[in-house]
Order: sequence, then structure tokens, then C-alpha cells
Amino acid sequence: MKLTILGCHSATPRTNTNPTSQVLEIKNHMFLIDCGEGTQVELRRNKIKFSRIKHVFISHLHGDHYFGLIGLVNTFSLLTRETELHIYAPKGLKELITMQMKLSESWTKYPLIFHELTSKKSELIYQDDKVEVHTIPLKHRIYTNGFLFKEKENERNLDINAVLNANINVAYYRKLKQGADVENEDGVLISNEKVTKDPKPAKSYAYCSDTVYHEAIIPIINEATVLYHESTFLNKNEALCKPTKHSTAEQAATIAKKANVETLILGHYSTRYNGYDEFKSEAETVFENVLLAKDGKSFDF
Ligand SMILES: [Zn+2]
Ligand SMILES: [Zn+2]
Repeated sequence: MKLTILGCHSATPRTNTNPTSQVLEIKNHMFLIDCGEGTQVELRRNKIKFSRIKHVFISHLHGDHYFGLIGLVNTFSLLTRETELHIYAPKGLKELITMQMKLSESWTKYPLIFHELTSKKSELIYQDDKVEVHTIPLKHRIYTNGFLFKEKENERNLDINAVLNANINVAYYRKLKQGADVENEDGVLISNEKVTKDPKPAKSYAYCSDTVYHEAIIPIINEATVLYHESTFLNKNEALCKPTKHSTAEQAATIAKKANVETLILGHYSTRYNGYDEFKSEAETVFENVLLAKDGKSFDF
């Protein structure tokens, strides 16, 4: 899994900072998560092929999370894209985008498929044989979802020497990988654990932006490999959290700790701050493994 931060700030674009957007590479997918202004430029700067993006997940309809989308949708047309583009977003985005296309008479030549979200409960919104994506209902000023990206359980690994010694027909290798016991060429039942090894543990990535401190998400993101949780403010500005429905770095760390995740990435910093080390040290008073998002930074996990 590889996460590339294209933008990790709130509110407005500035000379050196972009509003929210990131790309998650997982099991051969390139999932675009939020699409603030500047996303196209950052995709190019980070050498991410536009054609590999087939799914876009939009958390909510505040401009710092989707104002880059109409531009990207249009660029895909100019690049003569033919493959489908799926957009998962709160109800209303389809109307916004189609209105813009209608007035500029610029319909896409590729299928643009909207999946409008309205549920206030976590739901499965995408899956194939390798990954699944669930919503994480957040608590913000308008309807907002985070997203949980999960690898499906990996298959068992064959211990090839043990398999050969056990005289098992190749036709049964698939069943072995799926965990079944099989008969060998001599009709003897071979137990699975004698000829296979445990698979790599399945990984998960929980994206939570924007939200006030909200413990209801803990069971959904429990034991995630990586949690990205917004930390718009530092403790000294905590009074701003309630009216704006955002979190502090310490609150993000408290959620990380209670959900027992492995790693916390902080982001969605308010543009009032110029440095971010204080976010890290504040969060580290509660939770050990804290990383700071930075525009253009990649994380492998
Ligand atoms: Zn925001
Ligand atoms: Zn917002």
C-alpha cells in the first residue's frame, strides 16, 4: 500500500500548500481521495498517471475537498479517456458537476458514473476480489464520510518443498492456497498447515477528514494499519473546534489510541499555522506512532 499526499491543508490554496487530496495505491488500484484545487498539478508533479485513476472518493462538499474535480473530469475528456470513471460522493455532487458540463456543453466521452451517498451508517460501497471500501460516517458541519480501504484476507502461501514432498497434484494448489486439506496422489489426506504458511496480514487504511472528535468511528476503524485523521487545530485553539466541527491533534491521537491503530497520520492543518512540528509533539503526548502529512510526501505501509 502506498499513500501519496497531494494536499493536506484546509480552506484555501496558497503558494506552497494545497487543499485536501491524496492517492492510495492498493492492490493495483489508484484510488483518488478528495480532490481539492491543485490536484491535477500535484498528480503531474508526483508522476501519477491520470489513466490509472478509475475511482474517486469525495468526503463532503466543502470546496477544499472537491473544487478540483470538475477540472479533472474535463481533463480526462481532453486526454480522450474512454474508460469508466466512478465517483463516490454525497448526494448533490452529480447535480453540481452535470450543471457545469451542461452550461459549457462539454459532456464527457467516457462513462462518468456517480454513486451518491446518503446513508448515516457505515456501508460497503465498493469491492472486488482483492479490496473493499466502506464509508466512515463523520460528524462535521455538513454530511461527511471518511473511507475505510481494506485488503481482503490474503491467500495462504505454498511451502513448495513440502507440497512436492507430499506428492500433491498441481490441480489442488489453488485449494491449498484457500486453506483446504487435500488428498495426495496416493489418496492420503494432507492437512493444510503441513504444506502452507500463513499469509501476509491484510492491511487497511482509514481516511477521516473532516470531523469533530467523534468516538462513534472507533469500532469502524478499529486496528486499522494506518489512520489519517484531521487535526485542523492545536489545543491552544480548541475553542474553534466546536463551531467549525474540526479536531485538534490531541483529539486525533486519542481516537488513534482508542481504536488501537498502528500508525496515525495528521493533516488538514488550518492555514493559520506555518509549521507543523507542534502537531506531532501534541499528538505524541497521547499516541506513540505519529506522522505528519505533507504535500508531495508518500508513505509506504
Ligand atoms: Zn476541509
Ligand atoms: Zn469541511
